[in-house]
Amino acid sequence: MTRRIDGKAFAASVRERVAAEVTALGERHGITPGLAVVLVGEDPASQVYVRNKGKQTVEAGMQSFEHKLPIETSQDELLALIDQLNNDPAVHGILVQLPLPAQIDTDAVINALNREKDVDGFHIGNVGRLWSGGEGMVPCTPLGCLMLLQDELGDLTGKRALVLGRSNIVGKPMAALLLAQHCTVTIAHSRTVDLPARCSEADILVAAVGRAQMVKGDWIKPGATVIDVGINRIEKGDGTTRLVGDVDYDAAQGVAAAITPVPGGVGPMTIACLLHNTVTAACRQNGVDRASL
Ligand code: NAP
Repeated sequence: MTRRIDGKAFAASVRERVAAEVTALGERHGITPGLAVVLVGEDPASQVYVRNKGKQTVEAGMQSFEHKLPIETSQDELLALIDQLNNDPAVHGILVQLPLPAQIDTDAVINALNREKDVDGFHIGNVGRLWSGGEGMVPCTPLGCLMLLQDELGDLTGKRALVLGRSNIVGKPMAALLLAQHCTVTIAHSRTVDLPARCSEADILVAAVGRAQMVKGDWIKPGATVIDVGINRIEKGDGTTRLVGDVDYDAAQGVAAAITPVPGGVGPMTIACLLHNTVTAACRQNGVDRASL
């Protein structure tokens, strides 16, 4: 039997814990964590994400600040807003929704963030801290994957992990997190030779490729734990569509020990971890020991 890892339920428990911490921060320290989300343009998918983030932020008892800027916003205008948010004591976390329009240099904007408020963990200073073992902000999706893995497996020491995909948003930070947990980590990508054989060596397989059902059942080591980050929309044949992951979920049944479904696996963890990171940021900026909450 292959266990279905219920990311939706786990994310709800993370949000509940965050809400309790927010209450304690208010009662004991007079602090209400604040998260600012900046959206440039009107990309429909981004608008949905931003709406969901705002809703869940408020539900967790935090302050939500939304800044919606027109598509023609210049880089200087956006940097001026970032400067204002960096200096606003009510704002503990800042998230700039990506992608940004072509006239804006994404790296320049991300690296202009106060890195203590960079709740996405994309600032170069946070990337450096993650790889060098310092205390930084960890990108939300890989952090969510790690939480699911630890809940499933406990101590990850010595496990062979393969991360399929090397993006800055998912693959690389995922590999850094697994390395920090003492896994033996392989990062695979589009130039990897004999990918099925590399995958089949892994006790932990994290797929973040963006290719529908690419990982087949016989690529998976029997008894492995599989985390499927991919979100792909495919045609069902009757004119409608459905979401699938990067792993062939049905083929993994009876091979993997456990696997995240798509949807309902990694997806819900991302916003939950954003809220978690905002509490982390609020605690650090105010010298509060989170463990004491
Ligand atoms: P990305 O930036 O496009 O990176 C994809 C990675 O997959 C690249 O490293 C690429 O290799 C590798 N790749 C592509 N085709 C391959 C192949 N045939 N064989 C082996 N490797 C291959 O994507 P991403 O931003 O990391 O996102 C990956 C997936 O996760 C997407 O489906 C995305 O929608 C999903 N996602 C979900 C969440 C969430 O659940 N909250 C968050 C973020 C992303 P090269 O580097 O060699 O090109």
